[in-house]
Amino acid sequence: MAVDQAWHHRSVRKDEGAATTSAELRAHNLARLLRAVHDGGGQLTRAQLTRQLSLARGTATVLVRDLAGRQLIEELSSPAGAPEGLKAPRTRGRPTGVPSAHPQGPVALAIDLRDDSFTLAAFELTGRCTVLDRKEREAISGTRMLADVAARLKSHRRQFGDRVVGVGVAVPSPVSAGQMVQPTLPDWQDLGVADILAADEGDRGFAGAVLAGNDATLAGLAEARRGVLRGVSVALHLHVATGIGGVLLSGGLPVTGAHGSAGEFGHMPLTGGSEPCRCGSAGCWELDAGARGLLRAVGQPEEGDRMVRAEQVIAAAATDPGCGEALARAAEALGRGIGALVNAQDPEAVGLSGLAAEVYQAAPGPVRAGYLATLMRFRRPAPPALLPSTLGDLGALTGASELVFDAFLTPRGLGAWPVPEEKTA
Ligand SMILES: [Zn+2]
Repeated sequence: MAVDQAWHHRSVRKDEGAATTSAELRAHNLARLLRAVHDGGGQLTRAQLTRQLSLARGTATVLVRDLAGRQLIEELSSPAGAPEGLKAPRTRGRPTGVPSAHPQGPVALAIDLRDDSFTLAAFELTGRCTVLDRKEREAISGTRMLADVAARLKSHRRQFGDRVVGVGVAVPSPVSAGQMVQPTLPDWQDLGVADILAADEGDRGFAGAVLAGNDATLAGLAEARRGVLRGVSVALHLHVATGIGGVLLSGGLPVTGAHGSAGEFGHMPLTGGSEPCRCGSAGCWELDAGARGLLRAVGQPEEGDRMVRAEQVIAAAATDPGCGEALARAAEALGRGIGALVNAQDPEAVGLSGLAAEVYQAAPGPVRAGYLATLMRFRRPAPPALLPSTLGDLGALTGASELVFDAFLTPRGLGAWPVPEEKTA
């Protein structure tokens, strides 16, 4: 079953109406508690979660027992991954457990689809990630690669059985109604990626659901949930790969526009050029910044393995004056665009991932010079911080898994979770 809307969690996250009966209230509290375990990455004790959600201690005990009985969580004596000896704090002399991912608990499968490769991974409730497959596209077409992804996904679905609560896919294209409306590979044009990857008819509801989103949007979502933008009220995130995409996040939720395709910042004339762009517009920012900007600045073609060659330019910048100059120009162009976007959107902080983080780390001076030059004067004494991603290559994948958990961690999502004796894996 494919879900045709790509990204509409505002309605699902906001608790599907008011809970009125005691059964609804209980379902609502179970979802809230499980959501808090997920958001806390399995590092919070039961006492901390109880305080955070303003629950009575007895209620929390009953809810934890219920979630554990349904194999949604397992209570450990210390956070998973904590060093020996770092046990959970005691409350009134008694140890308090740490609700964590159950070994038979829910799994979100996530795919990072790129025009030159794909990565498939499994995420547990608390965000622990296991990469299952990673493959370069090599000489095959984009359509053949998608068929390969679908076959591997099917085999991993079998491996995890009923534990799979959905599949999230990050794609290198704006996404509208589940379709790639302007992908980087021509043979992906208008493909409904969620439909192509959806499970066979007859698979249980959530297990078969595929949710697709733009890779840069999902990279930003991941930073807001697990990375440098956690807790930031209004954040701007910029993800640079072949092009430049991103997202504005308000209270941790992406603002994705009327059709789900906002955030195409690379296609704004932020650096004053006028040349035509592949997107149909002219003077686009990404012609001067990002991989395209770097390659154009050293006079290399914009075809083929652009990311690899752009990274080679950055690596050679310290020893090759031509590469050094190209990096400085692309870095300054990156900063100028960021300043313009900050003027427009007034974020508290700006996250940078992909090539944006690499350019900033290699040439922070030119990025900051461009940034301050375009900021309005009143903003300059306290410019929003530029924060390179700490999630690295896992950003878009992590965001894709968050799409799945956003749909699952609701009363309706939990209602579809099978009771242990009915499970097949
Ligand atoms: Zn453009």
